[in-house]
Amino acid sequence: MYSPHAALIGGRSFDQCGDDLPLDIEAIRADFPILSRRLPNGKQLVYFDNAATSQKPKCVIDAMSRYYEEYNSNAHRAIHTLADEATAALEGARDMISSYFGTSSDQLIYTSGATEAINLVAYGWAREKLGKGDVVVLTEMEHHADIVPWQQLSIDKGVEVRFVPIDTESFTLDMDALEVALDGASLVCVVHTSNVLGVRNPIEKIIEMSQSVGARVLIDCAQGAPHERIDFDSLGADFIAISAHKMAGPTGIGCILVKKDAMAEMGPFMTGGSMIKRVTMEKSTFQDGNAMFETGTPRIAEAIGWGAAVEWLNQFDMGEIHDHINDVASWTAAQMREIPGIKIYGEPEREDSSGAISFLHESIQSLDLALLLDEGGFAVRTGHHCAQPLMDALGVPSTNRASFWVYNTMGEAEAFIDHLRYIVERFS
Ligand code: PLP
Repeated sequence: MYSPHAALIGGRSFDQCGDDLPLDIEAIRADFPILSRRLPNGKQLVYFDNAATSQKPKCVIDAMSRYYEEYNSNAHRAIHTLADEATAALEGARDMISSYFGTSSDQLIYTSGATEAINLVAYGWAREKLGKGDVVVLTEMEHHADIVPWQQLSIDKGVEVRFVPIDTESFTLDMDALEVALDGASLVCVVHTSNVLGVRNPIEKIIEMSQSVGARVLIDCAQGAPHERIDFDSLGADFIAISAHKMAGPTGIGCILVKKDAMAEMGPFMTGGSMIKRVTMEKSTFQDGNAMFETGTPRIAEAIGWGAAVEWLNQFDMGEIHDHINDVASWTAAQMREIPGIKIYGEPEREDSSGAISFLHESIQSLDLALLLDEGGFAVRTGHHCAQPLMDALGVPSTNRASFWVYNTMGEAEAFIDHLRYIVERFS
């Protein structure tokens, strides 16, 4: 059988990736063609917008091109050779991705990203199970993807939504308030790592506290998965939402990992082709298990690309990746604190922080600051980061955010600090 994943990363197959390679940042950078890019003004790109989306290594781009160039076909349908190859690659990727996340392939439902993954829980599980009298607990640091679906559920089904506040001194969740909010809770939805603050929540404790009151737990791992190994079965959460594009994979794909007993309680979300057993003019019956939730032509190229991304990541020890990112972010944050007028929201220096630095300058507008940084070649994010309730809690409309990943270097961080100092000296 044709093996689209063979030799994706210099001849190492997924099975051979057990021995972690030491981190060689220059060798890692060489895997990412975009990192050598110069901007139209001639400046070398320094990409510090990784919490929005990571860059893609060449093996991911090649795996997707190879699918389109050599065996593009629809999956799960025809019996010709190309269809067989496409189906094998799609399902092979599911095996690799689910195994990377420490679970079985029948517990993984492909979605378009973390947003659709959370909506799938809201529509496929919560609409079946929850109604008036039920409580969904969220936190003030959720991304809109983990707020709006629950507000809609509240409007449609009368479910009560409670928010756990953050402590704006330590930028951490108020765990006492969580304890109170859990009273009578049916579902607890918590972000693993804040995309704004870089704070990693104590999700192990939150899962334990939530399950001890009989609530199901959804963890939004969109930001967590690029920074640490998520082991679904041992974490014990009921649902985990993941985006591929923040962890070296392509856009347009992600997944929801679902515990078997929770999946058995779910009903269909999107309906149409693929997810049915039998359709007559009177009614339709549906596939069992994860097949009930994957409708229409699958995301074939994207799944293959994501498979290649986890194969690439699997070369490394995620703990070493985390330490490298944390070193660069801690050093950068400490330097930034010395620059007059800069205020950091969060504690990037903390050991479990994930390399996001949200900041503002007291007199330079955040949009101006982002444009001035871009002129120097530095890509940072500016805005509310799809976390307006958190912005409200912090008392600001937006922040600038520099976010780091495995390929960022101390040299880039030094250049960033020099340029930021120059901007502040010149424009404040
Ligand atoms: N949750 C968090 C914490 C995020 O940072 C993001 C994206 O920024 C999402 C959810 C939504 O992910 P996606 O846009 O890939 O669906």
